[in-house]
Amino acid sequence: MARIPRLFVISGPSGAGKGTLLSRVRESRPDLGLTVSATTRSPRPGDVDGVTYHFLDDSDFVARVERGEFLEWADVHGHKYGTLRSEVDRRIADGKSVILEIDVQGAFNVRKVYPDAVLIFIEPPSMEVLEARLRGRGTEDEASIELRLANARQEVALAEKYDARVVNDDLSQATDELAALIDSYETTGGNSNHGSY
Ligand code: 5GP
Repeated sequence: MARIPRLFVISGPSGAGKGTLLSRVRESRPDLGLTVSATTRSPRPGDVDGVTYHFLDDSDFVARVERGEFLEWADVHGHKYGTLRSEVDRRIADGKSVILEIDVQGAFNVRKVYPDAVLIFIEPPSMEVLEARLRGRGTEDEASIELRLANARQEVALAEKYDARVVNDDLSQATDELAALIDSYETTGGNSNHGSY
């Protein structure tokens, strides 16, 4: 069946496993374009400038906001994060579906600009599992873990406003669910009346 390119927005608390899930899904769907966001947070081990994020200093970020370069941006966990219009436009021009992995504030802002965007929320099986994952990752200090947990509680409360939700308990099962959801929105419009973006 022909695929209609869609704009997908994936959110979920830090530690829900969005990144791992998306890379799994993209193994079978390399055509799905993942945009590279800009951020003012410092690179972590494993981060590559221009690949995981465009790492900007605060004044550069603010200048780009003023020039209207962002489709959306938000303060998340004490740093600025934003989606550059150029990243999305490039994918749309290619006629491919686009995936934005952004926080809940960003997701609702994108929905205002693209009402047909498909918002998918990735949930951890429980807050206890989320906390264990965040600590196990070993990339954040205690204050940052506490902040991410507090934000997670607020984010999960907004999950019901999303078009679809995937609980990431078993990684393989969640990967299959997310891939099937994406496929269904591209081929049949999912369970909504949304059109193409
Ligand atoms: P991290 O610092 O762990 O890479 O990301 C922290 C949070 O920032 C995640 O919830 C992620 O979804 C969000 N985020 C990443 N890029 C963007 C973006 O471009 N816009 C918004 N609004 N949030 C983003």
